[in-house]
Amino acid sequence: MIPRVADGSRTGNGDPETPGALAGIPQHPVETTDRDFVGLGLEPAVLEVVERIGFEHPTPIQAAVIPDAITGTDLIGLAETGSGKTAAFVLPIVQRLRRGAGVRALIVSPTREIALQTKAFLDLFRKSRLRVNSACLIGGVKIGPQFDQLRTDPDVLVVTPGRLLDHVERGTASLAGVEELVLDEADHMLDLGFMPQIQRIVSQLPRQRHTMLFSATMPPPIERLAKRYMKDPVRIDLSPKGAASGIEHRLYLVDERDKKRCAVALLDTVPGSTLVFTKRRSDAEWLCRVLERGEHSVARIHSDRSQSHRVAALESFRAGRHRILVATNIAARGIDVQGIEHILNYDLPDTPEDYIHRAGRTARGAAEGVVSSIGTWLDKSLIRQVETALGHPLPRCEAEGVAAYRELRSLKERRKRSPLRR
Ligand code: AMP
Repeated sequence: MIPRVADGSRTGNGDPETPGALAGIPQHPVETTDRDFVGLGLEPAVLEVVERIGFEHPTPIQAAVIPDAITGTDLIGLAETGSGKTAAFVLPIVQRLRRGAGVRALIVSPTREIALQTKAFLDLFRKSRLRVNSACLIGGVKIGPQFDQLRTDPDVLVVTPGRLLDHVERGTASLAGVEELVLDEADHMLDLGFMPQIQRIVSQLPRQRHTMLFSATMPPPIERLAKRYMKDPVRIDLSPKGAASGIEHRLYLVDERDKKRCAVALLDTVPGSTLVFTKRRSDAEWLCRVLERGEHSVARIHSDRSQSHRVAALESFRAGRHRILVATNIAARGIDVQGIEHILNYDLPDTPEDYIHRAGRTARGAAEGVVSSIGTWLDKSLIRQVETALGHPLPRCEAEGVAAYRELRSLKERRKRSPLRR
């Protein structure tokens, strides 16, 4: 397999022959293989759309997943974010849905933004010979237009869990005929926050179905849980060990009271489009105000903001009108913005998997990027776990004008070296 890089110039808006084919779907360079879509077992009606979109060769995850998915084999697909997972499950699904009526496929996403991107990709098949009709049921927007979408008799539902359950309870959506289930960002869907909702959704589905799970990371306990929903799944693991290549990691250890100064110093000195993660909404708001006063161009996205504000913030960051986007964890997954050069973890995430997910917002496909993290002594154990996951220590760095926190050796280490100890 020869890795190539599709630069996106033949796809979507950049391609004069297919103007706007991928409008609404952000494009960025992606590694492809030397295989052909024809050789993967796709039918002419699907291949016509692939050609119209401008995809010339499948990406590694597409080449690995599509042949099994077409035959209805349950599978767990592990590959980094931005590696072409959407087409890896959408192409086999639209091919398998050729006969029948009613909702036959369900794609569950953890965030509204990912659901909207998947829906935009599915829409490319609506006007094709396949006439695949889909509806998007996500929270944060009015429910009325969703009733209208459901009345058009969709074949596929793309959903976030809460809003789907709302429709199921009202009797406006039925899952009784679902043959195809996809859990996107599955490790997140199966963690504690979402698990009760996923259980309720799965309990509404026929037992006899085809199930596919996709994720960038899959901790073993979650994988064991995931397998309960599947029949002899094949595991296709193309995830890089640790985070994507092309990322430079930097760790800024500071005293708790210096975190804010450190963040501002880094945003003042590290150029390029930057995504900042904070744990608390109040910190996101504070940081935005300080940055605006410092004449930085900054947008923000967190759960206190309406869906229309979230979409507008993401759009203006994507379009380059704002250099900095400050986000709480909701934005960690699925933000598909081309050319993010710098990720700043104002707070470290709770798990090493989340660190890798966040890092995956930069250096997508073949690009390069920097991930800066601000840590305090409280983060010591997590830093060690991240270093184990990456397979190397995080280089310690110092921000301009902010004193670095001096790491002390543990008591055990100090005792070991003490001359008084025999
Ligand atoms: P995804 O991981 O599905 O979000 O896809 C990441 C990006 O790669 C999107 O911009 C897709 O439009 C693009 N992409 C996916 N598959 C291909 C392909 N086979 N050739 C070129 N670009 C692709």
